[in-house]
Amino acid sequence: MRIVLLGPPGAGKGTQAKAMARELKLAHISTGDLLRQNVSSATPLGLEAKEYMNKGLLVPDLLVTKMLEDRFGQSDVKGGFILDGYPRTINQAKTLDSILDAKGMKIDIVFDLDSSEAVIVQRLSGRLVCKKCGALFHKINMPPKVSGVCDQCGGSLYQRDDDKEATIRKRLAVYREEVTALLEYYRAAKLLTTVSADDEASIVLKKIIDRARAL
Ligand code: AMP
Repeated sequence: MRIVLLGPPGAGKGTQAKAMARELKLAHISTGDLLRQNVSSATPLGLEAKEYMNKGLLVPDLLVTKMLEDRFGQSDVKGGFILDGYPRTINQAKTLDSILDAKGMKIDIVFDLDSSEAVIVQRLSGRLVCKKCGALFHKINMPPKVSGVCDQCGGSLYQRDDDKEATIRKRLAVYREEVTALLEYYRAAKLLTTVSADDEASIVLKKIIDRARAL
């Protein structure tokens, strides 16, 4: 199964994508995670991407597309995948179609996680990420057992530079600018399913999994 997960920053995309990947046994491809790995290993791509990311802007397509093509070259993708954070623009949606076309693949379903701005800002400004394994926590909604320490691997937790309130608002504005056309693209292709994401994570996950399994 090949799934695209859309939704504003803070709608719980990362949390849902990780859980869906476990439940449905699919590869989880997050362009944000891939970029952050490049930033923390200070690769040429990471050095270039960092400035855009810290401002809440999109990293130029050329950089992201090359990174995505490399990821699609890995063998786990053949068993199906969840794309999280890509595409973000119509241009990227078309690029994705042509990468998949060349591999004889197509998207089966696109989930759009719908969330209100108040919930988003509350979620993102409290978000904590494990430096080592990428596990997600929240200062209030999902605190780690020991403050600052990952429950899963013992790694240290940090707040992403782009999860500061001013950057969150910028990221939301960038998202809104592009998303209407993107949703229209997938609606026209009859792939789009909208899921309300303001509920608790486990309820949202169940709605998504039930719908995906019914395909
Ligand atoms: P995310 O973890 O999905 O919120 O992404 C964090 C940041 O990485 C975004 O604010 C962008 O700067 C960059 N990014 C992630 N995915 C993409 C993409 N598909 N196109 C351009 N930039 C991206």
